Amino acid sequence: MKHLIQLMPWLEETARRVVIIPHQQPDADAFGSGLALWHWLRAKGHTVAVVSPTDFPRFLEWMPGCSQILSFPKQPEAVKTAFAEAELFVCVDFSARNRMKPLHKVLDQYPDTPIALIDHHRGKEDFADYEFWDIEAAATAQLVYDFLGMVEQQAYITPEIASLLYAGILTDTGSFKHGNTTPHVHRVVADLMERGADAGHIHRLIFDNGREQRLRFLGYALWQKLTVLPQYHTAFFAISADDLKKFSSQNGDTEGLVNYALSIEGIYLAATFIEKDDNEIKISLRSVGDFSVADMATQHFEGGGHKNAAGGERKGASLQQVVDQFTQLLPGCEAALEQVHRQESS
Ligand code: 5GP
Ligand code: MN
Repeated sequence: MKHLIQLMPWLEETARRVVIIPHQQPDADAFGSGLALWHWLRAKGHTVAVVSPTDFPRFLEWMPGCSQILSFPKQPEAVKTAFAEAELFVCVDFSARNRMKPLHKVLDQYPDTPIALIDHHRGKEDFADYEFWDIEAAATAQLVYDFLGMVEQQAYITPEIASLLYAGILTDTGSFKHGNTTPHVHRVVADLMERGADAGHIHRLIFDNGREQRLRFLGYALWQKLTVLPQYHTAFFAISADDLKKFSSQNGDTEGLVNYALSIEGIYLAATFIEKDDNEIKISLRSVGDFSVADMATQHFEGGGHKNAAGGERKGASLQQVVDQFTQLLPGCEAALEQVHRQESS
């Protein structure tokens, strides 16, 4: 397998047809990185489509180019045509094939089309021909920035691209507070601001742009659905499909909920368990310090992610069964969480 930069001569030779694939349940890093590449490749004369494996949340709709994204659930025929015509697939912000479900089945029909990957998640699988993968990167958007720098000194970063990359870094660093927020990250976002990203405006578009019902749902979840287990430095939310229905919740409405559990003093492991309509439980895990939720997600919840932010999903089990499975793991985590507690209180 080759470095992504080795694709450049092929891309510079002539106009190509490229399909960019962000992960399912896309977030600002997946769409921001994907759309930034979309703008850049189009400016170079290529024919490019961004294809979302699942529907996407409202808080990403402001992104420049978002209205051009093909949604697999809504436009399956257009997506299939784009796949059939593609000369290159670019997987963005994921490196495990099941993160593009259900599009992986369509991808499987074109085994001869090369695949490129740009990502920062652990647990990479070997399915790409070209890669730019670095688990130290705070966001895929940072890798896109670095890649554009390798190619042509960031000369192609327009205000639109700057805003998209800024959004990805903003959200994946938890607004510049997670441990992945390095001096390089701050230098990158400083440059993005100089190239036209309006930091305050982007923050408001993402975080202060929700529906009233979303805030009322949050109040309900905080009041009624939070379990705190101080002995294990753990807190979690279990949200049923009925809870979501009560507040006509939309895709993305539960985004960020898990962080409220982590905001409690002495809590270093936080989780949300969310029952989707199709009988699937979505699990989000967050931790502080050396306790790796990526390991927990991989070993127990068919998922993966980063040391302090990971997730997974479970089909064919009830919400209560998944919650029970999680709480049964806690005695085995007690010593490691105690250790985080000692480090955090020293
Ligand atoms: P979130 O909790 O915000 O959905 O996801 C946090 C992180 O966990 C993501 O950046 C992603 O790395 C990882 N993640 C979430 N869900 C899954 C999953 O189902 N499979 C894998 N492999 N990783 C996941
Ligand atoms: Mn990311």
